[in-house]
Amino acid sequence: MGVQNQNNAHVVVLPYPAQGHISPLIQFAKRLASKGVKATFATTHYTLSSITAANIAVEPISDGFDEAGFAQAKDVGLFLTSFKTNGSRTLSQLIEKFENTTSPVTCIVYDSFLPWALDVAKQHGVYGAAFYTNSAAVCNIFCRIHHGLLELPVKMEDLPLVVPGIPPMNCRDLPSFIRFPESYPAYMAMKLSQFSNLKSADWMFVNTFEALESEVVKGLTDHFPAKMIGPMVPSAYLDGRIKGDKGYGANLWKPLGEECTKWLESKPAQSVVYVSFGSMVSLTDEQMEEVAWGLKQSGMSFLWVLREAEQSKLPIGYRDSVKEKGLIVTWCNQLELLANQAIGCFVTHCGWNSTLESLSLGVPVVCLPQWADQLPDAKFLEEVWEVGVRPQEDEKGVARREEFVKCLEVVMEGERSQVIRGNAGKWKNLAREAVSEGGSSDKIIDDFVNCLISADKNGDLKGF
Ligand code: UDP
Repeated sequence: MGVQNQNNAHVVVLPYPAQGHISPLIQFAKRLASKGVKATFATTHYTLSSITAANIAVEPISDGFDEAGFAQAKDVGLFLTSFKTNGSRTLSQLIEKFENTTSPVTCIVYDSFLPWALDVAKQHGVYGAAFYTNSAAVCNIFCRIHHGLLELPVKMEDLPLVVPGIPPMNCRDLPSFIRFPESYPAYMAMKLSQFSNLKSADWMFVNTFEALESEVVKGLTDHFPAKMIGPMVPSAYLDGRIKGDKGYGANLWKPLGEECTKWLESKPAQSVVYVSFGSMVSLTDEQMEEVAWGLKQSGMSFLWVLREAEQSKLPIGYRDSVKEKGLIVTWCNQLELLANQAIGCFVTHCGWNSTLESLSLGVPVVCLPQWADQLPDAKFLEEVWEVGVRPQEDEKGVARREEFVKCLEVVMEGERSQVIRGNAGKWKNLAREAVSEGGSSDKIIDDFVNCLISADKNGDLKGF
């Protein structure tokens, strides 16, 4: 970093207040700042103190639940409505705060979960860029449904679901909002609303990269002319051009960094299984038992991130019974671990950030997706990018320990392990290339920055 702001372009970046959204958007803000644009990160009151990223300004906005956000609202519909009302008002105030200063806001880069931010941007005559934090494949599916180009499967006989650019999807591959639309009406409405006002967006970005998903967006450019700018992973793990950029600079929980790296020190290369289900997934008691006993049965060393609230689900006496082989922590610096030579594979819930991080760091995976977009992400990891395997679930949807252990063995030591590791290495190089100077994502970000700078001089966005 350290690049001075050489122009008056000023971007306000607005995330949805969850770890998996704050991280990629703050990374984008840092990337813009490294290219000389002033970046302000506008985040909710209760997430404000978790932001430690350098070279960007941070400002509060309100979702109407300023003490604890969603945990306080407890209802998705209520939270989203309140965020729209209070977020629109406070984002407006933020834009006004910078009017008549030397750095008025030029553009709002908003999380696509918050389409109202585009309306606010337009009311103030500033540019609006949507930022999608999931895969292009997932964008493709929901965009088609929004535009009536894809019918939701109503019966098993309607499957597999065929979407251009995506391998045929069976029941177990479908995002849960599509498989059970009646169970998640507020989420489903939000996923579709991401495409509601795009006609007025000046730019749209997806956190993915061309080599990874170019096939997926072909044929959808009329409705979704999105640009791929990812992977938004701290620079130290990719191109290294942003000095000291080793973490996102936003942790909603305190990472137990030293404890983890110390424990890994004595472990041979590629011998440890790293297990994490991200910031939101809550395993069923049954699935928790299968994972726990499967890890023990495998005989492999493992480092398991289990959030505090999840730890009570561990079988009684489990911790003691695995203390020779396993370390269980509440939160870690995931990137630091994935980059550690001792880690041999990543047992993941396939959240999109974890997916991009495993690809960017070349770590093979065992997929245990639980809900939402994790299911199609797992399909791509296993079948398209071929960097891992997914255990078959039983009729109750539970991946049993025998299946799980078999998958661990395939990835860690089986004959296919070498092929999978080779593929993981290939994607790591391609991810690095995409964000390095002149790479596909880097060129788009440069275009964006140049447009903002020339718009700043001429009052018009050239090249959009
Ligand atoms: N993460 C972390 N420490 C942990 C577990 C997860 O820093 O112990 C980070 C991880 O690196 C990723 C994010 O949390 O960037 C999780 O995002 P993802 O999209 O994978 O899943 P979500 O939490 O949104 O389900």
